[in-house]
Amino acid sequence: MASLLLMGGRVIDPASGRDEVGDLVIEGGLIARIGPPGFARAEPGFAVAKPGSLKGAERVLDCRGRIVSPGFIDLHVHFREPPVARAASRVGGADLAALPETIETGTAAAVGGGFTTVCAMPNTDPPMDSAEAVAYYIRRGRETGLARVLPIGAMTRRRAGREPADLDAMKVAGAVAFSDDGSDVADAKVFEAVLRRAAAIGAVAICHCEDATLAAGGIVNDGPMTLALGLPGIPAEAEEAAVERACRLAAETGCRVHVAHVSTAGAVAAVRRAKAEGAPVTAEATPHHLALTHEALRGRESVFKVSPPLRSASDVAAVVEAVRDGTIDCLATDHAPHTAAAKAKGLVAAPPGVIGLESALPVYVRALIEPGTLDWPDLLARLTINPARVLNLDAGTLAVGAAADVTVIDPNEPWVIDPAHFASRARNCPFAGWKVKGRVKQTLVGGRVVYEDLA
Ligand SMILES: [Zn+2]
Repeated sequence: MASLLLMGGRVIDPASGRDEVGDLVIEGGLIARIGPPGFARAEPGFAVAKPGSLKGAERVLDCRGRIVSPGFIDLHVHFREPPVARAASRVGGADLAALPETIETGTAAAVGGGFTTVCAMPNTDPPMDSAEAVAYYIRRGRETGLARVLPIGAMTRRRAGREPADLDAMKVAGAVAFSDDGSDVADAKVFEAVLRRAAAIGAVAICHCEDATLAAGGIVNDGPMTLALGLPGIPAEAEEAAVERACRLAAETGCRVHVAHVSTAGAVAAVRRAKAEGAPVTAEATPHHLALTHEALRGRESVFKVSPPLRSASDVAAVVEAVRDGTIDCLATDHAPHTAAAKAKGLVAAPPGVIGLESALPVYVRALIEPGTLDWPDLLARLTINPARVLNLDAGTLAVGAAADVTVIDPNEPWVIDPAHFASRARNCPFAGWKVKGRVKQTLVGGRVVYEDLA
């Protein structure tokens, strides 16, 4: 039987509290054994099974000086592939090759960044709003994906915000959550109906919290940048008000609400209050909202245009503190690929969004580990078991018997972020040129090495 030994790494499994140097043996795609260094009786360079040497290990990864973590889980990515065969697409035949990302290229980016499970948002064209679409997407993920791809169904039909989509059928088909991400569900009655249905079937609602009226027409964070750039603002209150609405409805309906990409101090405070009152609320933060402020926009580069927008330094500090104290449960990239042509339209017309999968880890190191905000086990919890718990996923742990989804990290390796080397088809990375530390060396899905850093 094919097996694999990860030798001598610092094995960190936040789900169990394990943090010790040792050997990890994978057999049949599962975590088989973990023990002290040398327990598996293998040696560096061991390549082919020898009689009695490791019960038939076929490969050894030398993980000394490295961290062996559960594979990362990202609850929030956008792969642009439509959840419908192109020939039958209602948008009429555009080629997969013209898309800024597909499941194949997006999951290649995922495993390059250490992510073994990614949850894909439904704001595709056409939107993922039916059981057929969800089933198609799952099949495409299995056929073309290097990582596990879990679809999120739309909250409303056509993602238009006017009537709830068929959540029951999508859940049966395999949707792991529901979201109209990209925009909020403005209509209060529709939003409440969606949350009540989600609660009834035990599903999680992932909410892009932004009051459309307050945010209307805005391009950048309301404040000094609106003056400096002469562009309309999106006030922090637009997010805060929407988070308060979502949290109130979570409490009223019992629906588990996950607040996407928290970006303001007010939104953090609203989530903190809701949790203190016992509402079933969780939240996430993105690399760009942890590591960049609205000052990045001074050069008017559309690569820094995101939704919600980059905020003030005090907002960033509040989000970082919320990640530290657990108000924000997990980290998610909001990986949003766009073509160079789309992003070349300038700050006003370009679509919002940045790619994030392949730069996430070192940006988290920069924003959270280097200042001493989090240690490695705490960071990895927010990338593994915490997101798994938000969506009740059977993943995110190195427990014996679990699927061997594993990420091997060199915590100290310096490198320079260069999107030209990314597996993602898109290049809209706001961290290009950053000198960073912390690199993914190998990524394993089900015991199979699906990514290896050969640089
Ligand atoms: Zn969003």
